[in-house]
Formats: sequence, structure tokens, C-alpha cells
Amino acid sequence: MKKMILSPCCRIVKGYCNSCIYDLQKNNIYKFSNTLLSIFSSNGEKDEIIFANSPTADDNNQSKFIEDMKAEDLCFEIDDSNDFQSINTKISYTPQFCANCIIDRDAKSSYSLKRCEELIAPLLCEAICFRYFDPLSLDTLLSNLSFFKESTCRSIEINFTPKQVVSIDDCLKLKEQNERIFKIILFSQANNQIITIGTDLTIQYSKENLIDEFQCGFVSDFYMNAQTQFYIESKNHNNCLYKKIAIDRKGKIKNCPAMNEEFGTIDKECEDLRSIVQTHSFQKYWSISKDQIEVCCDCEYRYACHDCRCFLKDKSNIKSKPLKCNYNPYEES
Ligand code: SF4
Ligand code: SF4
Repeated sequence: MKKMILSPCCRIVKGYCNSCIYDLQKNNIYKFSNTLLSIFSSNGEKDEIIFANSPTADDNNQSKFIEDMKAEDLCFEIDDSNDFQSINTKISYTPQFCANCIIDRDAKSSYSLKRCEELIAPLLCEAICFRYFDPLSLDTLLSNLSFFKESTCRSIEINFTPKQVVSIDDCLKLKEQNERIFKIILFSQANNQIITIGTDLTIQYSKENLIDEFQCGFVSDFYMNAQTQFYIESKNHNNCLYKKIAIDRKGKIKNCPAMNEEFGTIDKECEDLRSIVQTHSFQKYWSISKDQIEVCCDCEYRYACHDCRCFLKDKSNIKSKPLKCNYNPYEES
């Protein structure tokens, strides 16, 4: 007998009025009304298989929904005898002290990037994001990046101030000089757009205005991320601040560059970042997952949406909804 199942790379996230199917392989999100949820049932096992049942007779909405899902490869038919396993979305812990690092710079930044790299290296960070709030020459940028040539970091993202003029050729030159650069973001653009060059360079044009560290934490479709690692992290930790370290433009060590809490400065006196990031106060936000946040806990986007803990609807409530979100999951749409 044939059965229809949800693709193993897909997950259903239920919200208050609507739900979403996240395609964790293609990084796509499909929203649908909760009135269609009855189509799905599970086998109730650990590696859950979600079945898409036959539509109720004469229910055109259900029939159309199943056809749409088939067209997007969100579900397909299997034989009863097929042994099928869903993808693993259980968290696994890595030995890294921090997984990602933000390094902010402006024209007045005087802290040493060499010292910065020496201190960050023992944390085993995988990803570094440089954010430049003032324009700089490509030569200066390349010299900045040269300190990270031997680092443990595997990927580098660069965010340029809107005042910086950057051509595609410049981006290619940067990539040529430093293979680790995988993403370049240009702000204050007419439209949001993503261009992929080759297999491992993305140039992102954003309508937002990155003039300082406070222009962060925006919530929109454009910033949603439906990928396995992010989905897993969102279910278990704060998906922005977990295993993050930031060096602000003055060289202050922080969990988030826009937050007031600071943990010393990148200078000769600072000997070890591991002991700093392992303190309870540094990790204050790390265990706050989206399921604990007011309103977000009922939102179908909660495992794809960055959880800003710096800009809050209610500053006195550490678990209140991100300030820069206007979405209302309690509204039928
Ligand atoms: S907590 Fe908010 S402001 Fe801080 S890095 Fe995350 S999104 Fe940006
Ligand atoms: S911030 Fe919360 S309510 Fe807004 S889209 Fe994200 S998860 Fe939903």
C-alpha cells in the first residue's frame, strides 16, 4: 500500500493560528492555516515520520494543499515496506568555547586585531563577522584580514557601512585574497537581494542601514533562516547569543556589541577569553530559547527567526518579544 509522507528534511512548526513547514535542506518556509493541520499525523516514534493523510472528501482546500506540497517536493509517496528515517535534529555539543564572533571597527578603533586574533584563537570560533561602520580602503581591509590567515575560523563575513562603495569586482578580489570570506553584506540598498557567486560566496544587498551596532535585531522574512543547524540551536538555546563573543568598536569584550554588559577590553592585560566566556554572567542569555519568549512561543516562525535579546518590547522583562518585530502570530492570515 502507498502512503504519503512529509519529506524527511521537513519539519512542521505549529503556531497559534498558522503553522509552517520548514524545508531544512532548501532553507524554505511554507506557511499554512492551522485548519489544514488535520492532514498530518505521526507514527509516534522517536524518528518521527509525518504522514499526509488523504484529504477529507470534497475538501478542496486540503486537496490543493497536498498538490502544492507535492509540487514543492515537501511530500511524496512511499510503499508500506519502505524503511524511512527522518533527519536527525537532536543537538550535539562541540568542544568550541564560542562558535561565532563579531568584530566591530570604525575609523577610531585602536585595539589591535593581531591581539584580537591571538585571544580568539583558543576559543575555536568557526565563524567571524567583521562589521565596518566607516569606509576603509580594500588594502586596509586585506591587512586586517591577514591577521586571521592562520586562525581556526573557517568562514568570514564582512558587513560594510552604507558609505562604502563596493563593486562585484571588489568582492571577487577580496575572495581571491582570502578564501574564508563566504558572505559580504552591503546595506542601504534599494532592494533586498542575494547574489551567489560560485559555490561559496554570497553577496547580500540589504535595505537596512548598518550605521552602528544599534541597527541590529531586525525581524523580517529576509532574515529568516530555515536550516538544520539553526533550527536545532533555536530549539535548545538563544539562536543569536549562544556561543557568541563580540568585540565592539572600542575593543570591549561582550556577548552582544549593542548591550551594555562588558567583560574587559582587548589589550595586553587581557590574557584569556576562555575564562571570561565560561562565566555565568557572560552566558546569561545562552539558554533562553524561542519557546520561552512571550508571543514568539506561539509563533510558527520561532525556529527560523533570530532572537534579539538586546532590543525588547518590554525592557524590564528578559523574556519579552523582540522590539523590532511587527508580526502578530495571533492574527489569522
Ligand atoms: S542580541 Fe540583538 S543586537 Fe545583539 S547581536 Fe543579537 S540581534 Fe544584534
Ligand atoms: S520575533 Fe517572535 S513573533 Fe516575531 S516573527 Fe520572530 S518568532 Fe515570530
